Amino acid sequence: IFNTLKTLKIAIQKSGRLNEKSVEILKNCGLTFENYKSSLISSVTNFPLEILFLRDDDIPEYVQDGIADLGIVGENVITETKAKVTHLQKLGFGKCTLKIAVQNSSSIEKLEDLNGKAIATSYPVILENFLQSKGIKSDIRTISGSVEIGPGLGLSDAICDIVSTGGTLKSNGLKPFADVMSSEAVLIGNEAIADHPEVAELLQRIRSVLSAKSNKYVVLNVSKDNLQKVVNLLPGVKSPTVVPLFEPNWVAVHSVIAEADFWDKINSLKAAGAEGILVMPIEKIIT
Ligand code: ATP
Ligand code: MG
Repeated sequence: IFNTLKTLKIAIQKSGRLNEKSVEILKNCGLTFENYKSSLISSVTNFPLEILFLRDDDIPEYVQDGIADLGIVGENVITETKAKVTHLQKLGFGKCTLKIAVQNSSSIEKLEDLNGKAIATSYPVILENFLQSKGIKSDIRTISGSVEIGPGLGLSDAICDIVSTGGTLKSNGLKPFADVMSSEAVLIGNEAIADHPEVAELLQRIRSVLSAKSNKYVVLNVSKDNLQKVVNLLPGVKSPTVVPLFEPNWVAVHSVIAEADFWDKINSLKAAGAEGILVMPIEKIIT
């Protein structure tokens, strides 16, 4: 059926923090391809798709200009490049926060103290938007990397950079001061292609992979006396499956539980009389 479809191009990061998870999500969608480290492009053998491996900074513009139809990239990079693209789906990885940080000894205590101060960053657009929204005018110094050494060298009074554990800040005598933007990886599409059938097919696969990942398959045993109490705790996709055990008056219940309230649910299930609880990962959920 795919002969009738256009071959799409999806741009993902060639190497770096988003590469591995981007490749993984495409493979989990059942796509077969070689993850060539040396080449720029790889063809999917069982879907009309080509994968372009690029620097993450270039991905939003490639998608905006239609050189790629789709892309996987951090929201921070999309905002920073001001590219006009359609956000199709948040992907749940590459989570990070862009923060302003100052030296431990700094006299900067509230946002207004940033007025007239120099802030080093690789994200001048995002920082400018943030400062403008707060009515603050600082001197933004754009540098492409290692912004955290700026204050120590007397290059800037503060920095604005991606912070995850805070380890890099600490080792440079800095402390986080204000959150500017939180970000995660998203699937983006060219504005003209976003509602084409091939995109819909891929999007459906990605969503079923994401939904499977955020759920667990649970099997448990319960006596019929406690069955209703246990079933009340388990929504399942439609409703739980109940099958008889060899032991009279006992049944096995099969259901799906959201990862988010997993431990709460397990404890309530035990309290309601569930025994021998098995928990298994789900590969895909197609609804
Ligand atoms: P490229 O060579 O492709 O330009 P890069 O060095 O610019 O790579 P990476 O450090 O690989 O980029 O980060 C890619 C993206 O991963 C970031 O733009 C951000 O969205 C996300 N990310 C998640 N956690 C972090 C983190 N702790 N530090 C930096 N980026 C992070
Ligand atoms: Mg980059």
